[in-house]
Amino acid sequence: MTGWTLGIETTAHTLSFGLVDSEGTPYPAASDTLRPDKGGIHPREAADHHKDVSGSLFTQVLEMHGLTPSDITTVAYSQGPGLGPCLRVGAAIARGLATRLKAPLIGVNHCVAHIEIGRQQCGCDDPVLLYVSGGNTQVIARLNGRYRVLGETLDIGIGNMLDKFARTQGIPFPGGPVIEKKALEYLRMNPEPSMEGLRLPYAVRGMDLAFSGLMTAAQRLIENGASLEAVCWSLQEHAFAACVEVAERAMAHTGKSELLLGGGVACNERMRTMCHEMSNDREGSSHAPPKMYCIDNGTMIARLGWLEISKRQTPLDESAIDQYLRTDQTPIVWS
Ligand code: AMP
Ligand code: MG
Repeated sequence: MTGWTLGIETTAHTLSFGLVDSEGTPYPAASDTLRPDKGGIHPREAADHHKDVSGSLFTQVLEMHGLTPSDITTVAYSQGPGLGPCLRVGAAIARGLATRLKAPLIGVNHCVAHIEIGRQQCGCDDPVLLYVSGGNTQVIARLNGRYRVLGETLDIGIGNMLDKFARTQGIPFPGGPVIEKKALEYLRMNPEPSMEGLRLPYAVRGMDLAFSGLMTAAQRLIENGASLEAVCWSLQEHAFAACVEVAERAMAHTGKSELLLGGGVACNERMRTMCHEMSNDREGSSHAPPKMYCIDNGTMIARLGWLEISKRQTPLDESAIDQYLRTDQTPIVWS
């Protein structure tokens, strides 16, 4: 393969253009995230945002790496899963660019892209992935040529839960990083914290997870007088422990020894520490890519497109998006 692969990410609030070179080496993406002043993300508003900034962002990613459009020889885009209106904008940009540049088009699976950029960055071979993002929370492992979902949230993604709780406390999107800061403040004031009076419901349901009850209970603690810092700490401890418990069981069932974190919530240092501790206890290892490759980014889409393009392309008449694309729908045709 010669030339560069462009990756276009538009599954939710972020529009991102990223690149890998002819060897599949990742280069940082140019990204822009819609951050509403109040309320959640409206899919159509996010789609409008992506349309508005796409031209300047595309120019930006080329300038960042000293390229011109003709250096792009493959165009990859997130075909799903995600918010329909947002995905459609990405697919339309991808079709337009592929046609204009006479480059092959390839629609890729967003969740699988999180795994593959993590494997590339961390050098792990056959990990259990703990994928913790805004809209998704899944524990995934490779079995019989597919990435299988061994456990997942039954209601909202862990990031959405953190963002929604934060919003009830007047903290704008994204709330996750602010919750992390507040939890650290609590620990600074209480180096030996106790769960007394800060208990929240158990989020594990067999191999699955459920977070909406945690969020409601956390709000109730605040209403009953607990400090925001204390509740942020407790919320992290409960929600992250639930994810790590399911991930540990997945490692035990599959006999795999590597754990790989992905998704925006994988930026959280407490989450990373908990994963390290669990993996060390099992004599395994825990890995997390740099933060710019944990959050949604175009580079991971480019990387997966690069891995797949020698085996398949997406003809224009099969390039429609699939909001509900499942992680295990994508056959693993690369190594
Ligand atoms: P993604 O959907 O993968 O782009 O990730 C976005 C989500 O990650 C949002 O829900 C953020 O609140 C969350 N997030 C980002 N950084 C952190 C952090 N340091 N701690 C917890 N959540 C975070
Ligand atoms: Mg994601």
